[in-house]
Amino acid sequence: MSVFKDIENYGHEQVVFCQDEEVGLKAIIAIHNTVIGPGLGGVRFWNYNNKSEALFDVLRLSRGMSLKAAAAGIELGGAKAVIIGDPSISSVDREALFRRFGSFVNSLSGKYITAEDVGVGVKDMVHIKMETDFVSGLPERMGGSGDPSPVTAYGTYLGIKVALKHKFGDEDVRGKKIIIKGVGKVGYNLANLLAEDGAELVLYDINTARTKEIAEELAEEYGVKVEVLEDEDKVWDVEGDVFSPCALGGELNEKTIPRLKVPIVAGAANNQLLDEEADGKRLKDRGILYAPDFVINAGGLINVYAEVKNPGYYDEDEVEEMVEVIPENLEFIFRDAEKRNITTHQSAIELAERRIKKLGHIKKFFKSN
Ligand code: NAD
Repeated sequence: MSVFKDIENYGHEQVVFCQDEEVGLKAIIAIHNTVIGPGLGGVRFWNYNNKSEALFDVLRLSRGMSLKAAAAGIELGGAKAVIIGDPSISSVDREALFRRFGSFVNSLSGKYITAEDVGVGVKDMVHIKMETDFVSGLPERMGGSGDPSPVTAYGTYLGIKVALKHKFGDEDVRGKKIIIKGVGKVGYNLANLLAEDGAELVLYDINTARTKEIAEELAEEYGVKVEVLEDEDKVWDVEGDVFSPCALGGELNEKTIPRLKVPIVAGAANNQLLDEEADGKRLKDRGILYAPDFVINAGGLINVYAEVKNPGYYDEDEVEEMVEVIPENLEFIFRDAEKRNITTHQSAIELAERRIKKLGHIKKFFKSN
């Protein structure tokens, strides 16, 4: 019964195992918390080595969604799903797989709202949508909110500014040296916002050719200095003002943190700390101000929420206003962590959990419609 032990440890409400032999579907939907609202989170299609690995991933990711939604001040809970399988299947098998997954989502009557994640594309979302309305993050042509990356980047940009203000008393990025690791959808948009404001950039991405093109484009358009690193190992030794992880998770760890030569870490990647407690403390002990990932990268979720809240009436200005919660929260977290001598990550978790607890209390009372 170790499944129950895991679920208990993370505090999940419900975990649904979905199986259909005919279409080859093996999926897990983990609903972590629905106190504030329905659990929203993407579905990941991944060739996991075994089912325990898939379960571990979905439990951890869904808890992260609860914290992200709670801190972002939106009426959503946290959930996530994984489909275990080989992504190289035919289009016919893929359609069946995602439509069947959609029918499982539908059977939960809206307690779980799905979205795109790693290994899942727009076509898959179209297939899910054929079986359920409990799906979000659809392309604009389908009445959805479209690509969340620009909003995630905007929230991260605001987060970097508030971190600079806390550390140096001035939020201006002009002349500041910012290292971005991962220049994909979010990293690219972030680099543009920072370059436009006159920041000096150092970029690293495993796709060197594309990164060089981006660097040239930014230098030409905004007249700023943009350096491209070609050796991943060098990224940790660059002296600068902000290190911004925008690639994969787990990159801040006992090997990389001691090498950092920056006073601030603030980026969009999910699960940046390999070990939440130990690595959060490592950063704190080195005097590096860390913007907790699930707080600073909530822009994408806020964007999706605008679609869920008001289907068919996505309002860009409203989203821009809602994203202001990110610098507001970070400002509070930086001060709170300092005052109580705890890590910023711990302060952020407490902030999110406090909102779930307080709103849970408020929701107990009679409300006329
Ligand atoms: P993406 O796939 O568009 O970009 C990722 C980039 O990282 C790619 O350019 C890839 O080449 C590069 N990369 C891969 N391994 C790398 C490495 N070891 N070092 C440097 N670069 C590497 O993804 P994205 O949508 O830009 O997301 C980036 C991160 O932000 C992810 O961790 C994602 O989970 C997180 N995030 C994204 C959003 C969003 O709205 N897209 C929202 C919240 C969090």
